Amino acid sequence: MENVVEDSDAKPSLGPVGAPTPSHSSRGLQLFQRIHGKVLAAARLPEEKSDRADGEGRRRVTGSVFGWNPLMRACDIRPAQGLFGLEIDSHAHVGVAEDYFQIPPEACTFMKLKLGAHHAAEKRRGGRKGRIVHFGGDCEPEVIAQELLRADGYDVFIVEPLTAFKMDPNRRAEYVSFYANEAQRLAKWLTGQVVDEDRLRDEIRQRNVIIARFQEMMRLRRHNPFFVPLVQVNLINRLANIKKYEREWFEAMDVLGEELQQVAREPAPFHIPIILVGVMHCEDLYQAIDETLGAVVSGFIPQLYREDLPPVEALGDYLLEMQLRGEMHDKCGGVVSLRKNRIERELKEWGARGVIVGGTTNCPYLAIAREMEYEYFTRRGVPVLVLDGTAHNDPATEEQKMRLRAFFEMML
Ligand code: SF4
Repeated sequence: MENVVEDSDAKPSLGPVGAPTPSHSSRGLQLFQRIHGKVLAAARLPEEKSDRADGEGRRRVTGSVFGWNPLMRACDIRPAQGLFGLEIDSHAHVGVAEDYFQIPPEACTFMKLKLGAHHAAEKRRGGRKGRIVHFGGDCEPEVIAQELLRADGYDVFIVEPLTAFKMDPNRRAEYVSFYANEAQRLAKWLTGQVVDEDRLRDEIRQRNVIIARFQEMMRLRRHNPFFVPLVQVNLINRLANIKKYEREWFEAMDVLGEELQQVAREPAPFHIPIILVGVMHCEDLYQAIDETLGAVVSGFIPQLYREDLPPVEALGDYLLEMQLRGEMHDKCGGVVSLRKNRIERELKEWGARGVIVGGTTNCPYLAIAREMEYEYFTRRGVPVLVLDGTAHNDPATEEQKMRLRAFFEMML
């Protein structure tokens, strides 16, 4: 594997704030911050007011199937509070899950956070229960959470999962077709009719344009990853899912792209490129990585949808592909053992030297994934750091920061 650390004639040491100061003067990043401010303000509004402010008159549904946002849009469905909303009052929501739903304290915080947030939202709506979409291939704790919500009076729709593990490659078309049928079944549940395929095709095409822009930004950023700190990369990725701000997102991306082109003409700073897999809810940990000489060069990059397939099948193919890649070990029933293939590919493609595996404490999936990946990659001489934490966006602990520093120091 090629080591692409640039301009490294004198290796800097890791001081308390060892890395070059991230660019806060970037106008592109400021524009993304402005969008973020609007999103946070909207997330704090009660749902009814937020709906009026939105002015789109779309129906709300909570939950989603990984990669099926184009379907929701084509059906005029607006997602209820996303992650931005969930983070607000996360401790209170976890408390609700433990007290009202009697979930034990040692259970994964992410599942409790979502469960408690549903209940809190219902109270704000005056007791009106919502509608929930859920992929049955998600983890067992998530499935239990959906059943608790159903028992509590929610209208829950489950997209039936297939086990992609050990799928005979010759049967791929059958699997895709199964998920395509599930997508239409979901559309009928949501709207009473099958999805308009022309609209769905447009939504997929538009989503691909966004993904391609994001991928391009990540490639440009590779020269000097400090210019767009990891916190901002995560933010830009999340903002890309909000239709209301799509135009502003593209404008900010245009400005940032020009800035990155300019930065690419300057010498690249010394950094240790790594890749990030799994989930990290603690933004302060991203900040902590940014403050070392380590730089995550690949981590949140979504894949393109296939436009050569009929649009409903493209959704089925996308979901199946996510499972087969073990893309999100904790989502869409990903085949945990296959995520290592993605890691290997990205190590080569991005010239990365190590891997950080993020995850939620007490998540059974992380427990399996990290053991397998740690063993597999350390045997091949690739350093792996497992960083798990809660689903709260709390400050990183001193221990987490120490482990991060030690990890990068080891690679100097
Ligand atoms: S963190 Fe793990 S246990 Fe918790 S919801 Fe995600 S996959 Fe499930």
